[in-house]
Amino acid sequence: MNFLKSIFKKQKPIKSTLTITSSNGFHLRPIAKFANEAKKFNSIITIIAYDQEVPATQVPKIISLSLEKGESFTLKCIGDDADEASSHLSSFFKELMENDKEVEILTQTNESYEAPTLNGVSVVPGIAIAPLVYCKTVENINNKNNLSINDSIELVKKELEELYNKNKSNSESDIYLAHKELLSSEIFQQNFKDIERLKETINREIAKLKGTKFESRIADYKDILQQILTHTGITTTLKLPTTPYILLIADLLPSDVPKLVDSPIQGVVLKQGTPTSHASILLRSFAIPTVIIHDAIDETKEAILDTSSGTLVVNPTKADREKAQAKLKTFQDKKAQNYKNRFKSTETLRGKSIKVLANIGDVQSAKEAKELGADGIGLFRSEFLFMGKKPTVEEQTNAYREIFELFDELTIRALDVGGDKPLPYAHIEKEQNPFLGIRGIRFLLREQTLLKEQLLAIFQAVKEVNDKNKTMKIMFPMVNNCDEFIEAKKIAIDIAIKQNLDISNIEFGIMLEVPSVIFALHEFDQLVDFYSIGTNDLTQYLFAIERTHPTLQADALSPMIMNALKLIIVTTKKPISICGELAGLTAATETLINLGYDTLSVSAKLIPSLKERIRNV
Ligand code: PEP
Ligand code: MG
Repeated sequence: MNFLKSIFKKQKPIKSTLTITSSNGFHLRPIAKFANEAKKFNSIITIIAYDQEVPATQVPKIISLSLEKGESFTLKCIGDDADEASSHLSSFFKELMENDKEVEILTQTNESYEAPTLNGVSVVPGIAIAPLVYCKTVENINNKNNLSINDSIELVKKELEELYNKNKSNSESDIYLAHKELLSSEIFQQNFKDIERLKETINREIAKLKGTKFESRIADYKDILQQILTHTGITTTLKLPTTPYILLIADLLPSDVPKLVDSPIQGVVLKQGTPTSHASILLRSFAIPTVIIHDAIDETKEAILDTSSGTLVVNPTKADREKAQAKLKTFQDKKAQNYKNRFKSTETLRGKSIKVLANIGDVQSAKEAKELGADGIGLFRSEFLFMGKKPTVEEQTNAYREIFELFDELTIRALDVGGDKPLPYAHIEKEQNPFLGIRGIRFLLREQTLLKEQLLAIFQAVKEVNDKNKTMKIMFPMVNNCDEFIEAKKIAIDIAIKQNLDISNIEFGIMLEVPSVIFALHEFDQLVDFYSIGTNDLTQYLFAIERTHPTLQADALSPMIMNALKLIIVTTKKPISICGELAGLTAATETLINLGYDTLSVSAKLIPSLKERIRNV
């Protein structure tokens, strides 16, 4: 190793500057993903910020840099694959930042109750009426099948990896990867002779976090400790009530949250934590009404938790209870109604029918979309299939067939890489402005093998499903002139002829996301069967503001975007949908429908509420 390091020392480091663009900062989950990715390279990779240089594979050390939105760090790679590592990790980082979901801040309004109240920060919306019960954890020691501490650490790592892989399509699963990466860091690489040594090590890390903005990560360390101890024979259980209750808890560990769901829990009052802590994220995914209140609180026979105002009403009066019950009923009715109506056709008040399709990335998310009421798939971002390794034609065919079997309408976007979307095994020259470089269709027409294999796989899937009532649509990304579409379609026809496959029922269209297309719609109309507007990229190119830019942000609802959308719909005679984020913003729904858009493709989770919004336009 030292020998290798001495070789690396002589090599020139490749440096790049990366900027935190997520308003959550560079926090545990993206750090864990980044560290996991950095391990795939032979080079020595470090992160330099504020005169500190830390290994890019060591999660706690990166956390200690405390990098916030707008701050930058230098990524330094030295080694035989330094070029590749630098370019891959840079793109990977940008994508991490772009996909880092902002935590929704709930608006809190004033609500008056007669009984005494305590106020805090609402984390998960809802109303709960039940006794407020303080829950403690109970430790049990069992002496059977106990592992050593180091073996327990290895086992927990394996379990976390399995959990992560099993739940990959669910964004909350990143928490498992984050815990696994914490456990893979240097601090856990020593020989732990006894539990006290392990506790000391963890407590040292916890002490470093106290009083910092990463304080909520303390619960993650405690969680890891608890999981390790379980395999050494010390189990900790939360004693939960068997009748409806509001949980009052000092320190809720992320791994405790799924256990709550099996009990009659109505709501949670957290005495510690933040809206971005992992326990909060999981409570949100299980839709358990939650408020964080730091004031001293005792157990009470009855309480009301009202997240519309962030209020805990202690020992409510009769009038308070009636008020809360009415609010709870409205809340539950609305939610249940949205979910119940998710499969119903969606018509506006004037009777205009609107199709709500889903944006998906793989078979699992297609199944979720089906369950949440998607009328079809409006955007299959096929690049997710190509991420780790290049899929075979057969693997692709299987995925396309499985999804096509679920829906009557499926729009597959041909592989969309380049720019901010890396493809590790494809050779893309380093560019000064990758957002304006070889990406989307430009890349596919250069690397035709990938395009040909993908088209063949789609055609074969259509043949295997063999149902003329279903519509398969293929769309090409980042098209900016008619020639690109003509060339791509010709490749498709040639494959079909060569392989003797019938593609007469397949529609071919484009993502409308490069502004030049708006000014050639008459010409495109002669060629394409449909358009789908990618408002994410269209906005970036209309305003010349990079979509991942750390400080600049285009206004998604800007009248200029709406004018562009108006120009498009009045000009084209072809079917058109919107699949960028704008389609899912309920603040835009009415405007889009009034402009004439009748097909919206959105992330599956938004479908029930978007359908309800449409029914009220
Ligand atoms: C878009 O650009 O709006 C779009 C839907 O595609 P992506 O976000 O995958 O680039
Ligand atoms: Mg796009």
